[in-house]
Amino acid sequence: MPAVSAQQREQSASQRREALKEVFAQARGCVRCPELAATRKTVVFGAGNADAELMFVGEAPGASEDEQGVPFVGRAGKLLEKLLEEIGLSRTQVFIANVLKCRPPGNRDPLPVEIENCQEYLLKQVELIQPSVICTLGNFSTKLLRGDPTGITRLHGQPEVLTLGARSVRLYPIYHPAAALYTPRMLETLREDFARLPDLLTLGAPQQPSPQVREIPEPLPPEPLPPEPPRPDPQTAERQAGGPEEAEQSAEVDQLGLF
Ligand code: URA
Repeated sequence: MPAVSAQQREQSASQRREALKEVFAQARGCVRCPELAATRKTVVFGAGNADAELMFVGEAPGASEDEQGVPFVGRAGKLLEKLLEEIGLSRTQVFIANVLKCRPPGNRDPLPVEIENCQEYLLKQVELIQPSVICTLGNFSTKLLRGDPTGITRLHGQPEVLTLGARSVRLYPIYHPAAALYTPRMLETLREDFARLPDLLTLGAPQQPSPQVREIPEPLPPEPLPPEPPRPDPQTAERQAGGPEEAEQSAEVDQLGLF
């Protein structure tokens, strides 16, 4: 997978959205983690606004997410939606992703090798979506993106500027909604941390790194692409989707749920 170039960084939102769809196509056929590839039902790439100012990064899909191919659709997801609503936002305005794109069997913790294998997809998502604020939900995403083992209890609610690949963002670690489901005090803290998000978003993106000094990571060997899914007859798809453009999108980004 080639690195995002300085030129790509200047691309329009629609060009970046197309590039994101390509990364999704690659992730959909990913077999870097043999156990996850063998046990998953779907690759849960992420969903929401491909040009979002605010991105959430959770841990890994659970059973409901694996079934539906969409992140945070279970109980924790409902809480996340409610907290978003309370600050005047909806799922369609943000992008929601996970550290792992595949469900660990039995909902076990992600293994270090799986996190390593999958992090390229997350970094690509950040580079292409270009959020101003990334909210890490819980320990796994916070530790991964900060590159540091400090836990969420110490860090929650404290924004910091962080450079991830070609993008500088305001990282804002908060508790994972799944943890808050069972601990009222944690829910209270999560709600307080959420309440500071609108002000953080008002600050906009931090200053971006200059393209000249950015290190381009070595590209990994290409992933074998998954077999093409059967495509509907284009005229039928076009009719169903209400026009040629929508027909193409509904065939390609169905699971991605991009807005
Ligand atoms: N928990 C997560 O971390 N991610 C999901 O998508 C669902 C639950």
